Amino acid sequence: MLTTPIPLSDLDYGPDEEAAVLRVLRGKWLSMGPEVQAFESEMSEFLDAKHAFAVSSGTAALHLAYLALGIGAGDEVIQPAINFVAAANTTVAVGATPVFADIVGLDEPTIDPEAVERLISPQARAVVVMHYGGYPGRLAQLSEICARHRLALVEDACHAIGARYLDPSQRPPHGAQAGTVGDVGCFSFFSNKNMAMGEGGLVVTNRDDLAERLRLLRSHGMTSLTWDRHTGHAVGYDVVAHGYNYRLDELHAALGRCQWRKLPGNNARRRELVAMYRQALSRLEGWLIPFADYPGESACHLSVVVAPDTDTRDCAVQHLRSVGIQTSLHYPCIPGFGAFHRFATDGIDRCLAFASRAITLPLFPTMTTDHVDETCRQLALAAGQHD
Ligand SMILES: *Cc1c(COP(=O)(O)O)cnc(C)c1O
Repeated sequence: MLTTPIPLSDLDYGPDEEAAVLRVLRGKWLSMGPEVQAFESEMSEFLDAKHAFAVSSGTAALHLAYLALGIGAGDEVIQPAINFVAAANTTVAVGATPVFADIVGLDEPTIDPEAVERLISPQARAVVVMHYGGYPGRLAQLSEICARHRLALVEDACHAIGARYLDPSQRPPHGAQAGTVGDVGCFSFFSNKNMAMGEGGLVVTNRDDLAERLRLLRSHGMTSLTWDRHTGHAVGYDVVAHGYNYRLDELHAALGRCQWRKLPGNNARRRELVAMYRQALSRLEGWLIPFADYPGESACHLSVVVAPDTDTRDCAVQHLRSVGIQTSLHYPCIPGFGAFHRFATDGIDRCLAFASRAITLPLFPTMTTDHVDETCRQLALAAGQHD
């Protein structure tokens, strides 16, 4: 057992976050107000997205994306089988059917554009790309396919705040920020994400028609906000759509603004740590580290290795746990979950292989070189390859 265990992730919180919360408490306005407004304009400028709406979670962002696009009963949403369950759950929540596609490969666990193209039926309405671990998926090909078949492209960019898509042959959207290429982009600021607020999210779009729907549906379909009425900008309101309460509050927005100021430094630190991991683990025979020759700029949300087989993976996880190094799996295949058996499908062999062999290792900006060295040393021991 290590003297101090190494967690999977940890917060970079300090005096800035404490001061931000106090600032809100002393201002005595807790629901959507000046902090949310400032956060939204900072994010819209940073991402170069025309519209950015702060919401209560990444899941709320995905739900609003589908609702704004008018996706509902009878529609199909093509999406990767390797993803957090939120994009699939919200697909079912709007009455649509998730259609699960394979990933490109074990070295690139994002949705395979060729698999997407094979799965397009007359019912297909949208494609979801999830930028696994912070590495943007194949956006040039996916955008082209969606345009050709008149499908919406939704980006689940919950891992990827600050990531940039760079195309190998410089085709558009070469250079774009993750989350701003599709019709709608969704971000999460859950505690373990690159920008952590506890709970929180953001939904972005460059389309004015979708922006209006997102704004209304976030807050009950009401035409004015409490803050607008408080500041005298509005007196009454109408309800023009059947919306939700997916608003973000001032405390979370204030935390988000601190975390955003730290994002460039923290993403750069994550990149350094991932480079160290890559170097140390490249010596492991039979093991693979995804995105080895990745052309883009990752947000480096996760550090993932793929074991030679499932037994070796399970033994390694067991050993790391026994010495106090926390690991995780991103993710089990969604059609394997009980509630998704009815959407089970063939043709996701690469997803199944990935889910049975991947390990997510500790990665967080306050992690030290010693943490990386120790994790790699213990993994090599578990793999029987320690020199
Ligand atoms: C975290 C996450 C979500 C959901 O975000 P919440 O803020 O937890 O609702 C969705 N998709 C991916 C890929 C995520 O990592």
